Amino acid sequence: MDDQALLRYSRQIMLDPIDIDGQERLLAGHALVVGAGGLGSPVALYLAAAGLGRLTLADADEVELSNLQRQIAHATVDLGRNKAESAREAALALNPDCAIRALSDHLDGEALARAVAEADVVLDCTDRFSSRYAINAACRVAGVPLISGAAIRFSGQLAVFDPRDPDSPCYACLYPPGGGESEEGDEALSCAESGVVAPLVGLIGSFQALEAIKLVSGAGTLHRGLSTFDGLVGQWRHFRVPRDPACPVCGAE
Ligand SMILES: [Zn+2]
Repeated sequence: MDDQALLRYSRQIMLDPIDIDGQERLLAGHALVVGAGGLGSPVALYLAAAGLGRLTLADADEVELSNLQRQIAHATVDLGRNKAESAREAALALNPDCAIRALSDHLDGEALARAVAEADVVLDCTDRFSSRYAINAACRVAGVPLISGAAIRFSGQLAVFDPRDPDSPCYACLYPPGGGESEEGDEALSCAESGVVAPLVGLIGSFQALEAIKLVSGAGTLHRGLSTFDGLVGQWRHFRVPRDPACPVCGAE
């Protein structure tokens, strides 16, 4: 790190659990952020600002007027632009030293597997069950930790799945495919159908970014289980999530 970098990251370096070594690990780290919407916006901005060295941002959608109420990486001038490109530009404006790749195609199949395998951590910032299952399976195969966030209406949740830990569940242990919640599927989760209050995605996305910074820098201990937040009463709850021996994704390992 040169003097400029030491100054830029000084408030993090002065934290004992991070220190110079942790900041160096952040600068050498690579995060894949799938989804550059409500959750992906604060994730991309905070990871770039905090000095995560490489970011891959994936989103096939274009910025729409109804996104701007909460997707803070995009501005009014970005209407109609690809979200990954728009978020890349916003994150680079915060920190030009961050190497950011924008993927404007829908990330699945081989391309998803490759992008996951290249990353140190994956942040699921999508709002569709089909994407969530695909990302979870790819992370499991590649052995890459997954930080999953979700936000709808006034409630949000966060879970971290770490395939490097033999006791860690996966996303499909928590939400078995074909279970009640997942079948109605993609639309049941969407903000277009249900609405979402603006700062909620900031809260959950920031929590995701914090876990990624801890994971890459080596600070603290990773979140375990499932945390849910009820914004209407302002309360967090925490649940244990056991690994499911019959899980179709990780049970046969
Ligand atoms: Zn599982």
